[in-house]
Amino acid sequence: MTSDSFSSLPISSAQIANLDSLGYKQMTAIQAQGLPHVLEGKDLIAKAKTGSGKTATFGIGLLERINPRFFGAQALVLCPTRELADQVGKELRKLARSTPNIKLVLLCGGKPFAAQKGSLEHGAHIIVGTPGRIQDHLSRGTLTLAGVQTLVLDEADRMLDMGFADVINEIIEQTPKTRQTLLFSATYPGTIKKMCASILNDPVTVSVESEH
Ligand code: ADP
Ligand code: MG
Repeated sequence: MTSDSFSSLPISSAQIANLDSLGYKQMTAIQAQGLPHVLEGKDLIAKAKTGSGKTATFGIGLLERINPRFFGAQALVLCPTRELADQVGKELRKLARSTPNIKLVLLCGGKPFAAQKGSLEHGAHIIVGTPGRIQDHLSRGTLTLAGVQTLVLDEADRMLDMGFADVINEIIEQTPKTRQTLLFSATYPGTIKKMCASILNDPVTVSVESEH
């Protein structure tokens, strides 16, 4: 066993077995650097490129904290586009096989609002979606974020490029201050630094830019 084995982490044996069945033999660099902090409950800034395994870096962490008996959003993952939200949803569903009765709801634009509202009424533990549609649900009272323990901003630089900064801030205002916040970004321009300073609490920064 190397130190890059998932079994070195403080996670459930069911998740270790699930990762094994998914064929995840070793942690990727971002997982090895980020997961110990995520599992400790620290806020995280992670700089990493596409395909580096970011989803499991936040997914394994947020799943460990979810209480399936409480029906309310406990984790919120913001993504720039519907396609990226779909990808994150698929990967999180694979990781969630280790945890029975976890419900994930995708909230993206271009999909019927009423069906999403219906899914939310049946209880959702994890929300993955795009800022505009999530804001829509908040303003219409079909979603509440008071129970969020983990907030993830995935591909944060792209979300800011798309002009989502104000909407993201409005969404974050509706989450508890005690939440854990995890921010992923391929680049780290001034706008991201500013956002990090306002929404993260004593974050750890990890970077795997040098990975090929
Ligand atoms: P990113 O968000 O960084 O672009 P993803 O989280 O979508 O990357 O992961 C990219 C691919 O790598 C996915 O198909 C995922 O299932 C796979 N993957 C993630 N972590 C591991 C791992 N530790 N071992 C093997 N495959 C992995
Ligand atoms: Mg991704």
